[in-house]
Amino acid sequence: MAEQNRIREQIRSVLDTFPHTPRAHVQSFGCQLNFCDGEKYKGILQDLGFLLTDEPEEADVILFNACAVRAHAESRVIGRLGALKAIKEKNPLLVVGLCGCMAEEDEVRALLRKSYPFVKIVLGAGAMEKLPETLLKVYEGEKFAESLKFAGLPDESLPTVRTSSFQASVPVMYGCNNFCTYCIVPYVRGRERSRQPEAIENEVRGLIESGCKEILLLGQNVNSYGVGLETPINFPALLRRLDQIEGDYIIRFMSSHPKDATPELIDTMLASRHIEHHLHLPVQCGSDTVLKAMNRRYTVEKYLTMIDYARRKDPDFGFSSDLIVGFPTETEEDFLGTMDLISRVKYDNLYTFIYSPRTGTLAAKMEFVSTQEEIADRMRRLLEKQREISEEFNKRFLGKNVRMLAEKRDPETGLLLGKTLEGLVLEAPGEDAHIGKLLDVRVTGVKNWALSGELL
Ligand code: SAM
Ligand code: SF4
Repeated sequence: MAEQNRIREQIRSVLDTFPHTPRAHVQSFGCQLNFCDGEKYKGILQDLGFLLTDEPEEADVILFNACAVRAHAESRVIGRLGALKAIKEKNPLLVVGLCGCMAEEDEVRALLRKSYPFVKIVLGAGAMEKLPETLLKVYEGEKFAESLKFAGLPDESLPTVRTSSFQASVPVMYGCNNFCTYCIVPYVRGRERSRQPEAIENEVRGLIESGCKEILLLGQNVNSYGVGLETPINFPALLRRLDQIEGDYIIRFMSSHPKDATPELIDTMLASRHIEHHLHLPVQCGSDTVLKAMNRRYTVEKYLTMIDYARRKDPDFGFSSDLIVGFPTETEEDFLGTMDLISRVKYDNLYTFIYSPRTGTLAAKMEFVSTQEEIADRMRRLLEKQREISEEFNKRFLGKNVRMLAEKRDPETGLLLGKTLEGLVLEAPGEDAHIGKLLDVRVTGVKNWALSGELL
């Protein structure tokens, strides 16, 4: 702690020499967990004495907090980093940094050293608390300061700048032990480690007491929460504990791995007062052969058993999923399995990805059995089918009353946009004062991606 204070004071004395108010800009890319980390980077920089700005042009520190999951997203970040060179030329005081799981990749760091010398800071995912000392090294003249570490948990006392007053993300666990053959996450975010339940409960309680209406519990695999903790606790038990906190709020969570989804999880959700009746349960593919090659450790039948279990108890229970199209071994027949699966499950929402080979993963060494044209065509067919399915299945809500959290106003239609307890987007006419509130709504219409309704 004394060391942290010393570093903070040293940075502040550097900032005192600036001819203007020092400003910092943090931009996050990728998954919700990355955005959540981004709020902590902002907190640290604000604590060091920076004003936060949305404009990179006026910043003295720019941090890109980037995701390593897909190559295409990484290339975009590299392109945007390149564009910062012009800003650096105008402001010699500017320090540019790359952080997040993309910074953990050896080849990314090698590229930065070779072609982007104005990027001075590289901070790996999980090395957030090292930002002050890394920044100080740069202010003291180091050409390239890096900190990589993903073994532990972020310090519980790290400050956070929350983007919203009524929605908050709360990580419950970090890392992943699953080693799906296509995925880089275990290599760049390390093994699973869970936060203490007391720390999570205190954070959630504090948020609810300060008026937060939606808590999003986050982790690469939330339902394996608890592995390695001294006092045994599983994810449903954590949910039950949080659900006891008094107040008017919703708990959502993601992602859940199908191999760890249990009837206990569904029962806990259905018996709760605050937990959404929606599960994001990424299936990735509807073929057992491909699931095996992906090392997902469940079959299509086992997956469907969990869906049936939930829908028997609540026919309106909502599911969403991630799907990868074009895994190297995927044939047309495997893909037809995916098409069949989405018809059987009737997801409300799908996050679809074309397979992206990641260096160091097992799948990156596999030969493609389909062409890129075939894969692109499969993606098109998948999206078309999903549109039909959700438009039809959303009709189950017509005429019903649902609860939604109003999140914002759609700038085009002027309608309020929110998300229901079942995880569906809903639009309805309403006042600005409704934003950030939990509202009861009658569903009067259905689109392929959303419901529409009237406030009750
Ligand atoms: N842990 C979660 C799970 O297993 O369901 C998902 C976390 S992962 C960061 C988010 C999604 O990215 C995955 O569900 C998968 O669909 C997608 N993804 C991961 N690696 C990918 C790759 N190499 N190419 C395309 N999509 C990928
Ligand atoms: Fe990646 Fe699989 Fe871990 Fe999800 S469970 S983060 S897809 S390795």
